Amino acid sequence: MAKNDLMDRVVNLCKRRGLVFPSSEVYGGFRSTWDYGPLGVLLKRNVKDAWWRSMVQLRDDVVGLDSAILMAPKVWEASGHLATFTDPLVDCRNCKERFRADQLPESGACPNCGVKDSFTEARNFNLMFKTYVGPVEDDASVAYLRPETAQGIFVNFANVQTTTRKKPPFGIAQVGKSFRNEITPGNFVFRTREFEQMEMEFFVPPEDSAQWYEYWCQERYRWYTELGIPEDQLRLRPHEESELSHYSTGTSDVEFMYPWGWGELEGIANRGDFDLSQHSKFSGQDLSYFDQEHDRRYLPHVIEPAAGADRATLAFLLAAYEEEDVDNGKGGTEKRTLLRLHPRLAPIKVAVLPLSKNEQLVPVADEVASLLRAELMIDVDITGSIGKRYRRQDEVGTPLCVTVDFDTLDDRAVTIRDRDTMAQARVPIDGLLAELQGRLS
Ligand code: ATP
Repeated sequence: MAKNDLMDRVVNLCKRRGLVFPSSEVYGGFRSTWDYGPLGVLLKRNVKDAWWRSMVQLRDDVVGLDSAILMAPKVWEASGHLATFTDPLVDCRNCKERFRADQLPESGACPNCGVKDSFTEARNFNLMFKTYVGPVEDDASVAYLRPETAQGIFVNFANVQTTTRKKPPFGIAQVGKSFRNEITPGNFVFRTREFEQMEMEFFVPPEDSAQWYEYWCQERYRWYTELGIPEDQLRLRPHEESELSHYSTGTSDVEFMYPWGWGELEGIANRGDFDLSQHSKFSGQDLSYFDQEHDRRYLPHVIEPAAGADRATLAFLLAAYEEEDVDNGKGGTEKRTLLRLHPRLAPIKVAVLPLSKNEQLVPVADEVASLLRAELMIDVDITGSIGKRYRRQDEVGTPLCVTVDFDTLDDRAVTIRDRDTMAQARVPIDGLLAELQGRLS
């Protein structure tokens, strides 16, 4: 399938099946913002849960945090965002559209109106959204929507360290919304002005930072492959010297082969002691750590894996999308669209389908559904032919379907049908939940 086709088909599927809608659509949309529909909210939540499980639940050296989006403006002075979180911006003198100076085509033609050499000098544009806190709109009440979740972690370093009594090496993880007034949002949910991040700051003794940086690069790459991104669509790209922020001694991006080329999924950076040292300086609070065992005080260095929940969700969708020709049962073939999503990510884990709307079958399907509902996200679908309903479930990545048919009335058994192989197996209702859980894990 041509690459642009793939993007169109995935965007189309997202709209058609309630994964992602254009935001404020009844008003004609609102500049590259998107809403996650009934299936999309499940998918994105599963992505975030999978991240949390791997970063917090399965480890004894990382704890969680949920800090506020609005923070003291001083935070953004200390972090450097007020002074340097900017993109170079140019205006087209002809059509008045604005572009990022570093993303202009080599031809020198305006991407909007095509006029050549029509750009103004580049000037720096701060990407933070500004607002006012309280009833008075003056300089003293200015606040910013956070452009990253990381700073909420740094300013809580001492709170978390003393309350949990964790010793470096340890990390603090956070998932939440961030806002950037991007000049050129686009590529569906890849670049938006409001998005969700999954960030972890790992605090280590200075001499161990290089080793932990390597560790987190490998660990984060592995997370994506384990959840189904093929290795030939994923790479770890170390930044060139010229790309590094002034405080970073190493940064690598985990990149995915999007339909338009390699694009960042996540950045892993060795940030040194930049953040804790800045916040110590600006707040007047000593954020160093006292290592009793070695009788020394130091500012921990930080390794930061910073991922985007929306970009990851898009990558999982693109990697999972497939169309194949299958037997139509009448001697010919038909097209089947499916999302080969990892079961952990699939929005619906199991669909319960009575063979028909028959009044004896539907109550049994309801009984099976209530048996499963407390443990698994399920869907009950009773409309349309059974073949059509299997296709509908394939298309949104449901790994397993359970069919209740007339034999069920006699033998109290149902048929499990597998999304990927389409193989079917007969299983007693009594052992159904355990069987499904086994197949999903
Ligand atoms: P880019 O170079 O693509 O703008 P970045 O290097 O500025 O990204 P970071 O500041 O490292 O991004 O943020 C960490 C992660 O947050 C990114 O890898 C990405 O997954 C996500 N992210 C950043 N900006 C956006 C955005 N505008 N829309 C969606 N996700 C984003």
